[in-house]
Amino acid sequence: MAFDRLLSRDHTTRLRLTRQLMGVASYAMFLLPGSLAVRWGWARFDYVGLVALVATALAFNVAFFLAIRTGFSRRFRDPTLLLPQILVAFALSLVTLHYMRGEARSVMLMLYVASFFFGLFTLGTWQLLQLAGVAVAGYVGLMAFEFHGRPLDTPEFQLELLRLAVLAMITSWLSLVGGYLAGLRTKLGERRSALQEALARVQELSERDELTGARNRRYLMQALEKERARAERFAQPFCVAIIDLDHFKRINDRHGHAVGDEILRGLCDHVRRQARDLDLLARQDIDTAFGRYGGEEFLLVMPHTTLDGGLACLARMHAATGAQRFSTQAGELSLTFSAGLAQYRAGEPVSTLLARADAALYRAKSLGRNRVETAGP
Ligand code: GH3
Ligand code: MG
Ligand code: MG
Repeated sequence: MAFDRLLSRDHTTRLRLTRQLMGVASYAMFLLPGSLAVRWGWARFDYVGLVALVATALAFNVAFFLAIRTGFSRRFRDPTLLLPQILVAFALSLVTLHYMRGEARSVMLMLYVASFFFGLFTLGTWQLLQLAGVAVAGYVGLMAFEFHGRPLDTPEFQLELLRLAVLAMITSWLSLVGGYLAGLRTKLGERRSALQEALARVQELSERDELTGARNRRYLMQALEKERARAERFAQPFCVAIIDLDHFKRINDRHGHAVGDEILRGLCDHVRRQARDLDLLARQDIDTAFGRYGGEEFLLVMPHTTLDGGLACLARMHAATGAQRFSTQAGELSLTFSAGLAQYRAGEPVSTLLARADAALYRAKSLGRNRVETAGP
């Protein structure tokens, strides 16, 4: 919990601070090789010097930590303060190197390169190459500082040149590798979002009827299950209507299947347009409430609706559809439907609810079609 508060709840800030704590850990870990170097006389400072060095590093880190944690660093172009942190690590490594004797300096050169690693997973090739330039320049500066006024044709200086050459080589290669990694990361990110888009599209398609573009049976069944769960939890009423076009076979027989298809599409468009005028449907998205149940049958789900309210809404829809002229390649055609309406009864499965609506629809058909019947309680 305390750790949680320390690192902040904001995800990005947390990530930055976690990375920063890794830096702190590396500085603390330097205590081990540092102590060994002091103990065996490879360093030109004592334990006090070592502790002072590590304390300085930690002080820098506390400052960086606070700058990030308080949000102060957000005013900069890079709020992670990556570059300043690497530069501080470079400087501290150079100080350490300066105080190392002989062979120990070659070994500790690795620390210098290690500072470079913090940029490896974030920066691009060009930035890394610039950083490599800074690292090499830093080492050249150290050499200039140490060999100022001293003869240069000594094995000691040659060894320094050798170190410098290796440093330049390693940091250059790391820059190229890091840049390659950055490219991979970008590509991976792009592929991921493309995949997510495709997935969303597939999901959308799997819920749509191919012919009309309206919701399909699979979607409607899920929607009904959700509505049932909601009704159970909040004790709210809801209704469902099965709508079946009257004598649709005749339209196919008379004008052909293509015209029948046009009518099916036209009806869906009509319902969508009409929904705006029907108060009940205006309260929710018609696109999620209406769909093709199969063939020339459609389903209308009416949340928060009792049988009376549902009947009023359906009657208006019925009248409006009867008055509508559907334009087709065979001219303008009119159409009627019969519907069965049922209100959900607490505890009943969706299949029972649909069976009751279907029975009401059957009654509407046998009473002469072109009418709405309600299922008894
Ligand atoms: P009723 O009033 O009793 O409902 O008569 P109906 O002719 O509508 O009923 P029936 O169930 O006998 O026929 C339904 C017709 O719907 C049969 C079928 O050819 C047609 N149909 C089903 N799906 C499609 C489709 O996708 N396109 C077309 N054009 N017709 C379809
Ligand atoms: Mg039918
Ligand atoms: Mg029919």
